Amino acid sequence: LPQEFIEALPVLEQIRQAGFEAYFVGGSVRDTLLGLPIHDVDIATSAYPAEIKDIFERTVDTGIEHGTVMVLDHGNGYEITTFRTESGYQDFRRPDKVEFVRSLKEDLKRRDLTINALALAPDGTVIDLFSGITDLENKVLRAVGQPEERFFEDALRMMRTVRFASQLGFSIETDTFAAIAKNAHLLEKIAVERIHVEWVKLLLGQDLKQGVAAFLKTELYRYCPGLAQQKENLAKLLELDEFQLADELACWSLLCYLCDFSISDAKKFLKSWKTSNEIITEVTNVLTLLKHADEPTIDPFSCYKAKEKATQTAADLAEILQLKLSKETLITTYEQLPIKDKAQLTINGKVLIEKLSLKPGPILGKVLNILEHEVVLGNLPNQSEVLLQRAQELSKD
Ligand code: ATP
Ligand code: MG
Repeated sequence: LPQEFIEALPVLEQIRQAGFEAYFVGGSVRDTLLGLPIHDVDIATSAYPAEIKDIFERTVDTGIEHGTVMVLDHGNGYEITTFRTESGYQDFRRPDKVEFVRSLKEDLKRRDLTINALALAPDGTVIDLFSGITDLENKVLRAVGQPEERFFEDALRMMRTVRFASQLGFSIETDTFAAIAKNAHLLEKIAVERIHVEWVKLLLGQDLKQGVAAFLKTELYRYCPGLAQQKENLAKLLELDEFQLADELACWSLLCYLCDFSISDAKKFLKSWKTSNEIITEVTNVLTLLKHADEPTIDPFSCYKAKEKATQTAADLAEILQLKLSKETLITTYEQLPIKDKAQLTINGKVLIEKLSLKPGPILGKVLNILEHEVVLGNLPNQSEVLLQRAQELSKD
């Protein structure tokens, strides 16, 4: 058992001693069987939330209406969720009505894929009611039960399936694939925030091409914000040499670049996906740098304006896309900047006001901007006497 499970064993043991069942479930079981690192340990139990709260001294109601209680144990927090069935699915969305049950089988039945419907008992036994282990061995993504029914219940599961294709490099079982292709339009019913999570995970996957190919072939892309007309541009991802995207910024930047979006189109596109404002700003910076993609050099001021994060991202994309503007050129240009930030100038507005008796206002701002520009380009050394003298000349003009 991985360390994370071993640390959680006393918690499971305590639930069992109180007379209830408790298992590890979900992604951590799947990833352990695949030999992958795990990030969150999910525990499922036959005990009801109130019973869990009786068993443990320190608990937090993180999602009690869905049956989840967080148990605090030796500095760790464990999400413990009561076995539940979900009913009253409306409009192809995840239900908000859940019913607590005492049977593990009922709980595993409502899960999306067979590889995600495994449970691990504290003694190391795997409970595999839907041949999830065989599917893990054969690298197959298969819906639990009738695929179409399962996608009617929650259409996000279609997106999750192609996301796992990308993360794990698994193929999608024929009936499951057909059900996605047939019902892709149901994705329109799903909140964009939920689709966003799966889409970014898909783009960050190690086997991105596998995921993107399925995303295109099932036509799920037609029901995602801003992508309905982008089939050819998305297919460009399949032509690139093997690559791995570093983070969400790289994902969105690459997409916007391949779709050939103008800055304002990119902003609209990102807004429609409800990305953060920080992502929108940084993608804008990356795209501005990549306007120079067909030139072998880039002026230092562009890198200065873009700042480190966007320059690094543009550099990574330059490599992936094999642009004429190379990764090395971008990185070196940034690294060799005499200053990285206005605050590093040896003078500032206050100094100019004191030493040159300049007045606050637009002229002072202009002078400072020119000095900044010239220092960044290496035309002036970043020395206060030199800058003061230049400022004096400029303020006379
Ligand atoms: P990750 O490694 O990204 O966390 P995960 O499979 O653990 O993947 P979670 O969203 O953490 O994904 O969900 C935990 C478990 O809950 C899943 O393994 C699956 O059993 C179940 N699950 C999550 N979302 C759904 C869904 N939309 N429909 C059915 N079951 C789901
Ligand atoms: Mg998880």
